[in-house]
Amino acid sequence: MSSTPDESAGFGTRAIHAGQAPDPTTGAVTVPIYQTSTFVQRGVGEHQGYEYARTGNPTRTAYETCIASLEGGAWGLAFASGMAAIDTILKLLSAGDHVVVADDVYGGTFRLFDKVLSRFGIAFSFVDLTDPAAFEAALRPTTRIVWIETPTNPMLKIVDIAAVSARAKAAGAWVVVDNTFASPYLQQPLALGADLVMHSATKYLGGHSDVVGGIVVGNDGDIEARLRFLQNAAGAVPGPFDCWLVLRGLKTLALRMRHHCVNAQAIAEWLEDQPAVAHVIYPGLPGDAGHAVAARQMRHGFGGMISFTLRPGGRSARDVVARTRYFKLAESLGGVESLIELPSAMTHLSTADSDIAVPVDLIRISVGIEDVADLMADLDQALS
Ligand SMILES: *Cc1c(COP(=O)(O)O)cnc(C)c1O
Repeated sequence: MSSTPDESAGFGTRAIHAGQAPDPTTGAVTVPIYQTSTFVQRGVGEHQGYEYARTGNPTRTAYETCIASLEGGAWGLAFASGMAAIDTILKLLSAGDHVVVADDVYGGTFRLFDKVLSRFGIAFSFVDLTDPAAFEAALRPTTRIVWIETPTNPMLKIVDIAAVSARAKAAGAWVVVDNTFASPYLQQPLALGADLVMHSATKYLGGHSDVVGGIVVGNDGDIEARLRFLQNAAGAVPGPFDCWLVLRGLKTLALRMRHHCVNAQAIAEWLEDQPAVAHVIYPGLPGDAGHAVAARQMRHGFGGMISFTLRPGGRSARDVVARTRYFKLAESLGGVESLIELPSAMTHLSTADSDIAVPVDLIRISVGIEDVADLMADLDQALS
């Protein structure tokens, strides 16, 4: 019997078994770290599927197979970082092409598009994709990609993936969804009409703040061939140990996401009741602008990310983020430990003088899987 799961197997089962049959030579239950740069050939061109480790490595294949299954895609390609994945996707384009980008994207994505790729003749329009009229006005005959992030970072806006995908398809553009904030456990963009889904695997997929990585998943074989060519040609691939770490993280993705969601929902509701807090942004709150669409296109919960602002007259945001004990003051997100940060001065500094600058006093938290009472007590002492 094959030990690889059926496509009908549940998410938690596929996370542990997809791509992870026991090692054929030793029976190792855990996929080994194939720490090798090259593979022996029996005769010229006669190899066992692997030649040189930039092109492919069995640890990487296991990881790519597993994440493809979790996103409901036909294939997955792993990269050295989320930015390397984004850069490689954009290299599908040529000078003269145009990209419509959600206006509230990750700061590094904005920097790569605005400061690097624009120098190569690719044009970018940053628009509010929650506004259909603004999206319509941004489309051009040369638009090749519509780049969605949802929930967005750090304003946690919710973009309707199905609606934007349908319009983009009619305009002849591919839709790419940066699914980093939701993870495939909570949101499956390919099923909603997206052509590609990508992740910073550094965040929820790895889940333990111990590895940097990126992943791209899709269904179209032609795009796969072109991306594989670029992956090998440009070479921004992850090492086998990094692949192994993310693969290990994936095994507990469902468990971790459930706990992130339960903790974040409780903390968002609690923050709304705090006198020091002016406004809480969390798609799981019934009054949140994105709640209706999020409830339709996400499942199991609304994620572990919350943004909020403080009322004037009390502690400053800068002060609060430096006073928490369990919420560590750090960039990044999606790990088991809670983090807190000030996007305008940290993750989103690169957008400071642009049209898409974030409010200077916005606090963003990544809610971890610690005991929620300890997390609330920690925020309480920092706020009061
Ligand atoms: C972190 C992040 C990225 C970049 O990924 P790296 O692994 O840091 O290169 C891209 N998009 C989002 C939403 C992110 O949070």
